[in-house]
Amino acid sequence: MSGRRDADGPSEEAEASGGEVTAAGPGDGVLAGAVRAKDPAQTDDGAAGAWRRREHPARDPEVDPAHDPAVGAAERRFRRQAAVVLAVLAAVILAVAAFSTPWRVLAAGPPDPARDFTAAEIARAQAFDAATSLPSYLGLALTLAFAALLVATPFGAKVLGRLKGPWWLRVVLGVLVLTAIVEAVRWPLGVWFETLLRDYGLSTQDWAGWTADRLKSLGVEAFLLCLMLLVLVGLARRVRRWWIPAAVGACALTVVMSFLYPVVFEPLFNDFTSMPQGSLRDNLLDMAERDGVPVQDVLVADASRRTTALNAYVSGFGATRRIVVYDTLLKAPQPQVELVVAHELGHAEADDVLYGTLVGALGAALGAVLLFVVFGAVRRRAGVTSIADPRAVGVVMGLMTLGSLIMGPAQNVISRHVEARADVHALDLTRDPATFIAMQKRLAITNISDLSPDPVEYVLYASHPSSPERIALARSWAELNGVPVP
Ligand SMILES: [Zn+2]
Repeated sequence: MSGRRDADGPSEEAEASGGEVTAAGPGDGVLAGAVRAKDPAQTDDGAAGAWRRREHPARDPEVDPAHDPAVGAAERRFRRQAAVVLAVLAAVILAVAAFSTPWRVLAAGPPDPARDFTAAEIARAQAFDAATSLPSYLGLALTLAFAALLVATPFGAKVLGRLKGPWWLRVVLGVLVLTAIVEAVRWPLGVWFETLLRDYGLSTQDWAGWTADRLKSLGVEAFLLCLMLLVLVGLARRVRRWWIPAAVGACALTVVMSFLYPVVFEPLFNDFTSMPQGSLRDNLLDMAERDGVPVQDVLVADASRRTTALNAYVSGFGATRRIVVYDTLLKAPQPQVELVVAHELGHAEADDVLYGTLVGALGAALGAVLLFVVFGAVRRRAGVTSIADPRAVGVVMGLMTLGSLIMGPAQNVISRHVEARADVHALDLTRDPATFIAMQKRLAITNISDLSPDPVEYVLYASHPSSPERIALARSWAELNGVPVP
């Protein structure tokens, strides 16, 4: 998410992948069987829909434009306009990403895990990676399969065609029903992943805590989806060129969510306290001042009630910007904690969260326009003629999932460069590559990071350079800056 820059924990990605990557699955057989009896293509708004059709034929949100030549011509014109806007937006995003990404921070030597990690540490990382790969890839495959099912078949329209009530209620219920189906398949994979985390000593949660966390994440996800889809379907029912306000709305929602994320969503999952008075706090605030980054406070999250992993991050921007360290990190030697915070100051100074949010907001706008363009191509297969139809919730959710899966690797490429820049910032600020390397080793060993991710994992999941890459960067920095190479 663009609202947050994780500092250092590849294993937090692994942890998150239990929830995020292991996502969806094909619909459950009982439900699919139950809806087959009735053809939802026949269900509509009933009398109310018919009335609208007579009174306002050109504005009927659920009329199939392909069946009305005048509406069809207008639709084609709108689609051409949308395609032009789409091309312009894509060019702007590419240009912003190309110019704001620090492509060449510092040329680092080749990574060499064997130089800094013992054979046992490497073997443990490989074993953990092998064990978690299966649920991760299975989750990814199920996510893709479910999204494809929603986009390329009338499954979603059929399930949602069973729902009754006003359109807004059917949108809300549609989101809840599809989220529940996805989660029914995701849940066992999540349990599997959590069991592995416990086997390897990374999780400190019991099942009650794990379940509560998972339900809260689901609640947030479903709430945001409902909000987006209510606005989208509502716009499509009123405005022919709904993609214009939808793009503006998606843009605004991304900025608002990223701004509110630290104060609205993070407290749902963790308690945050000011770092206690003492030499660590003084040193961190001194360092921030030296760095020219205004920081009033460093917050400590009670992550230890969930995990043993180490991490820190910057989230929010402007008035909500904050630097957070996990309480698990505070057991590390003080100079190592300072190095982690120095990395976070690098994010703060470069306004990485704000830039990420702006690129994300443009991406969200592009997504809204793309939805308008692509929907015409998939609506027949998906069995829904218009976004104004609440049954379109399924195909929209499927397209959103596919869109975010496709964009993931591009986001990772940018993220890895941004992370490398924050690492160089930490080295410039502390001029202490030896502690930097010690800290990287601690992070990698504690979080059981993948020390040599294969190309597929790297492309799909690596938001940070690998630990050996970060260590190689520190050595190159030392050579360049005339500091003894650790
Ligand atoms: Zn970072």
